[in-house]
Amino acid sequence: VALANQKGGVGKTTTAINIAASVALLGHKVLLIDADPQANATSGLGFDINGKGIYECITGQCTAEQVLLQSEDIKSLWVLPSSIELVAAETELPTMERGHYVVKGIIDSVREQFDYIFIDCPPSLGMLTVKALSSSDGVVIPMQCEFYSLEGMSQLLNTVKKIKTLYNPTLQVVGILLTMYNGRLTLTGQVVAELKKYYADKLFKVPISRTVRISEAPGYGEPICYHDPYGKGA
Ligand code: ADP
Ligand code: MG
Repeated sequence: VALANQKGGVGKTTTAINIAASVALLGHKVLLIDADPQANATSGLGFDINGKGIYECITGQCTAEQVLLQSEDIKSLWVLPSSIELVAAETELPTMERGHYVVKGIIDSVREQFDYIFIDCPPSLGMLTVKALSSSDGVVIPMQCEFYSLEGMSQLLNTVKKIKTLYNPTLQVVGILLTMYNGRLTLTGQVVAELKKYYADKLFKVPISRTVRISEAPGYGEPICYHDPYGKGA
């Protein structure tokens, strides 16, 4: 399942880390793939962002198996880390022979070992996001309740439609997840009303509230279910 939205700062990484950790705590074996050169999912779970990771897998220097990292706190949670090197993949992937299948190949090489794989996408509709969507069964779209988010949504859903037609007929939109939700703002109500008009069937019923505990958790390298397990965010 890819976490995708071309807008930055909408809660993709936060959602990726916390869903991956929570599903792992439920007893499933989970892999979180960090497909963003900013490597926030890697650092947010307390891992080194200067090691070998997905970029080295893309260039063929390593196998995924060799770079997977296991969480110390949650033994059934694994991360395929990222690093700033991954920036180069945006320009290198299109020139690579079989470039389109490289990311899918990396995922397929470890797919059987995991019950769930989540992919944290970068904030663009560039190569890495397209490859992630082409390799996923589903996409979850985190979004903030703001007006520009609505414009971005139709663009993103068009991209998903194109990827479905071109590369991945089984790709499904799992749902739209409202993040950093503050129900007391008038704007929130307006945006939710618009969303319900067009995407009612895709909107997750439970929004993720804005809480400072969620934003401070990555500083401790912890998912919210450890940092503040009984809080509203968790
Ligand atoms: P993206 O990956 O889409 O760029 P992030 O997950 O990094 O977005 O979130 C952007 C910022 O918002 C981060 O600083 C994060 O800690 C903060 N944030 C995300 N979700 C929440 C929330 N529910 N409440 C408060 N802050 C949040
Ligand atoms: Mg991110």
